[in-house]
Amino acid sequence: MRVDGQCHCGQITYVAEVDPATVMICNCTDCQTMAGSAFRTLVLTRPGTFRLLSGEPKPYVKTGDSGTRRIQSFCPECGTPIYSAPVDTAEPDIYVLRLGAVRQRDQLVPKVKLWTRSAQAWVDDMNALPKFETQPVFDDDGQLKPT
Ligand SMILES: [Zn+2]
Ligand SMILES: [Zn+2]
Repeated sequence: MRVDGQCHCGQITYVAEVDPATVMICNCTDCQTMAGSAFRTLVLTRPGTFRLLSGEPKPYVKTGDSGTRRIQSFCPECGTPIYSAPVDTAEPDIYVLRLGAVRQRDQLVPKVKLWTRSAQAWVDDMNALPKFETQPVFDDDGQLKPT
């Protein structure tokens, strides 16, 4: 499946081919920190199909528990996470795209959950929460105003 993506400020744009069967949720603690959220959603590019169209993602090299070093790239202007890739190849074959910047993400449904041992306990219970279609109104104490 052909996808395109961009960061929030629009400096970084790219195209790639992805396999919808490789959409994953990762609950590892690094993903929680680096996504600024409870988990991260990812999809693998098909080998050799990632093309950066504009901008220059900033690389951050992360060393995992296994000792593997990987580039975690993000927009230097707006901070949007873009992809991870191996650190030691000039032109990485497979990029792991961060789904939030992929325009077609509504068609890319996660197929598996990784690192559930470090998942936040509430992530499987989100359907029980009160829902608002847009930003609700909070009062001065940060409490939801009854509608
Ligand atoms: Zn940006
Ligand atoms: Zn992770």
